[in-house]
Amino acid sequence: MVERAPDPGTGETMNASCIFCRIAAGEIPSPRVYEDEHLFVIRDINPAAPVHLLVIPREHVESVGALEERHAELAGRLLLAVRRVAEQEGIAGSGFRMVANTGREGGQTVPHLHLHVLGGRQLTGHGTA
Ligand code: 5GP
Ligand code: ZN
Repeated sequence: MVERAPDPGTGETMNASCIFCRIAAGEIPSPRVYEDEHLFVIRDINPAAPVHLLVIPREHVESVGALEERHAELAGRLLLAVRRVAEQEGIAGSGFRMVANTGREGGQTVPHLHLHVLGGRQLTGHGTA
């Protein structure tokens, strides 16, 4: 894994081999459902529900398990973005699910923190299936 030096402006690190860092940098095109300076939202490439979004911080944080005190504001912004895009996609009223797979046994496949937002059908169980 290639770790780039922290950006002197933002202090953010970018992992050059990380797919979500590459999407964040625009190296891999992916239409944004929403974006701001802290985070962006894209549609999952392999959707498990009619609406399946990924809320992704620009900063490379590996998972919920790697969040630090300094991420308190970012963590709040990620949650608020979930609410925003749920409204935007018309699933806020009918209901939706937010999932953060974390680590190996949590089924995380992309090691860059992301919140799944699933909706548009009746969901059962507790996961993204
Ligand atoms: P995880 O399994 O880590 O919780 O979720 C990773 C998600 O990212 C998967 O649902 C997968 O379909 C999605 N994904 C992986 N690569 C890409 C990509 O290049 N573009 C998009 N839009 N989604 C991706
Ligand atoms: Zn990354």
